[in-house]
Amino acid sequence: MCGIVAYIGKKEAYPLIVDGLRKMEYRGYDSAGVALLDQELSIYKKKGKVQDLENFVLNSKIKPTGTIGMGHTRWATHGEPSDRNSHPHTSGNGDLALIHNGIIENYATLKDALIELGHTFKSDTDTEVLVHLIEEIQKKYDLPIEEAVKKSLEKVVGAYAIVVMDKKNPDLIIGARNSSPLVFGLGEDEFFLASDASPIIKYTNKVIYLEDEDVISIHRNGEYKISNLQNKTNNHQIKELDLKLEELEKGGFDHFMLKEIYQQPATIEQSMKGRLNASEGWAILGGMSQHINRISKSKRIIMMACGTSWHSALIGEYLFEEIARIPVEVEYASEFRYRNPIIYEDDFIIALSQSGETADTLAAIEIAKEKGAFVYGIVNVVGSSIARITDSGSYIHAGPEIGVASTKAFTSQLSVITLMALYLGHERGKISEGYYRQLLNELETVPRKVEQILKKNDHIKYIASEIKNASNALYLGRGYNFPVALEGALKLKEISYIHAEGYPAAEMKHGPIALIDMYMPVVVIATNKSAYEKIVSNIQEVKARKGIVIAIINEDDTMIREIADFFIEIPAIAEPLSPLLSVIPLQLLSYHIALMRGCNVDQPRNLAKSVTVE
Ligand code: GLU
Repeated sequence: MCGIVAYIGKKEAYPLIVDGLRKMEYRGYDSAGVALLDQELSIYKKKGKVQDLENFVLNSKIKPTGTIGMGHTRWATHGEPSDRNSHPHTSGNGDLALIHNGIIENYATLKDALIELGHTFKSDTDTEVLVHLIEEIQKKYDLPIEEAVKKSLEKVVGAYAIVVMDKKNPDLIIGARNSSPLVFGLGEDEFFLASDASPIIKYTNKVIYLEDEDVISIHRNGEYKISNLQNKTNNHQIKELDLKLEELEKGGFDHFMLKEIYQQPATIEQSMKGRLNASEGWAILGGMSQHINRISKSKRIIMMACGTSWHSALIGEYLFEEIARIPVEVEYASEFRYRNPIIYEDDFIIALSQSGETADTLAAIEIAKEKGAFVYGIVNVVGSSIARITDSGSYIHAGPEIGVASTKAFTSQLSVITLMALYLGHERGKISEGYYRQLLNELETVPRKVEQILKKNDHIKYIASEIKNASNALYLGRGYNFPVALEGALKLKEISYIHAEGYPAAEMKHGPIALIDMYMPVVVIATNKSAYEKIVSNIQEVKARKGIVIAIINEDDTMIREIADFFIEIPAIAEPLSPLLSVIPLQLLSYHIALMRGCNVDQPRNLAKSVTVE
C-alpha cells in the first residue's frame, strides 16, 4: 500500500526515483508523483501507473533534474484517484513539498483551523493538511524546517510515513513515521528513505528501520539526526540486509505470482530448514524454545490475522487443537481490536502477517500486550514492525512476495504453524510418538509433492479455459480443507474478479446450493480420507443440480474421478498436512483464469500488498 522513495546524493535523482517506484508497484496504488529540487521545486504527478507518470514527464517542458527528490505511489484513502489528489502536495508559498503514506485522522479539524488562518487547499486529501500545518508552524515560531516538522507532528493523530523537501534547504530531506513503515538507506555519498528496502537494495544493503514517532533529517554530506516526538531514545542500529536484487525480479516467469507459485517447493523447504529433522525425530522453533515453559502452559491460543494470513490461522486452529490440545480462537485483527477483547495473561497470542506491517494486526498486538499476554509473530519481512514489537516469533523465510495474491507466504506460514503445533504437542505429551514421527516424516516430503503438483500445470490451465467465463464460483472443503476452500475462493476473486465463496462442504445445503446451476463451477477439495463418503454425497448433490464439479482428489481416488466433470490429482498425505498440497492447484487455477480474462495478475485493481492503513 503506497510507496515512498526519496533520494539525496550526487546522482540525478529522477531515474533512481522512478526505478524505485517501479520496485514498489507491487504494493498497490492508483497514482504516482515525483518532486525534484534543482534551484526550483518541480512537481510531476499523474493518476494511473508509474508509466503514465513517465510519459507525462517526457512530454513536460520542464526536464526532470536535481540530485534531491522524492517519489510516491498513492493508494487513495481520502479523495478519489486524480492528478490533483496525487502526491507530492505543496505548501501555500510553494516552498515545501510532502509525500505521505497513511491516514491523518484529525485532518478535518486541522484543515478547518488552517482555512481560518487563510490557507487554501488544492486537493481533497487528508495529506495536504500536513504540508500547510508545517508551513504555518514554521512561520509562526520561526523554526528551522526539522523543528517545524516535529512540532507539527505533535498535533497530528493518525498513521503516517512522510518525507518533506524544502526549497530553502536544498541539501536536506526530512522523514518521519508513525504506524507506517519507513526505512533509511545509507549508501556511498547517497542516502534514501523508502517504504521498504526494495528500491534501496540496488545501491546499499545498509539500512536503519525507523521507529514510531521518529523524525529523521538527512544532510547531503551524510550527517543525519534521528529524534523522537516523545523524546524516547530508540536504539537505531545500522542493519545489513540479506536481500538480493534478483529476488525482486520475475526470473523468467511472466508474472511474479507464477514465479512465487513455482518457488513453493524451495520456500516450503526453506521455512523448515533447521527446524525439522524427521530421522532424528524432532521439530523445534528457536523463537518458541526460549519460552517453551510459558507457551506449554497456555490455556488458550488466540491467532490474529487478516486476509490470506487469517486462512492460515484457521488451519492453525485445526492443527493446534488436534496436535497440541489447546483451544484456539481465530480472530480478524480488525474486529478483535475494536471490541474490548477478553485476554488472559496465560493466553498465547499468535499474530500472522506476510508484510509484518498490517495496520490492524499491529494494533491488535498492542492491545494484547497491554493486557499482559505473550505475543508471537509469524511474519515474512525481516525487520518489519510486527517482528520488532512481538515478544518472540518465527520468520517464514519465503523471500520477497511481490504478487499481491499471496501464494508462497501462505504455504510457508502453514509449514511454520504445523511445526509449532508438532513441537508444542510433543512438549505437552499430547501426541503419540508414532503419529508425531509420521507427521514429521510426511512434512519432509511436502516440497517434492508440491513439485509433482506443479507438473499438472497444463491440465489445470485446460480446466481454467473451460470455466473462465463463469460469473460465480463455489469452493467446498471439509476439516483441514475448509480454510483451503476459503483461500481458493479468495485467490479467484482477488485476481480474476469472479465472485467466489468458500464454504464448509456440509454447509452448502444451508444456502449456497440455491445458486447452483449449469453455469456454476464448484471446486471441491476432496482429499480427506476421514469424510470421503460425505464429500462424495456433496458432489452428487451438486451434480444433481447440474453444477460443474472440479474435484481435487488423491491419486488413489476411485469414486470421485467418475462423477466429477474435471479432477486434479494430488499425492496422498496425512490430513493435517493436506492444505500444503491442496492449495497449490487452486493457486494455479486462479492464475490461469485471471490471465485468460485479461486481468492484471500481479496488481489487481483496488488491492494493496501490505495493508498499512486500517
Ligand atoms: N491518505 C492519503 C491519501 O489519500 C495517503 C494514502 C496513501 O497511503 O497512499 O492521499
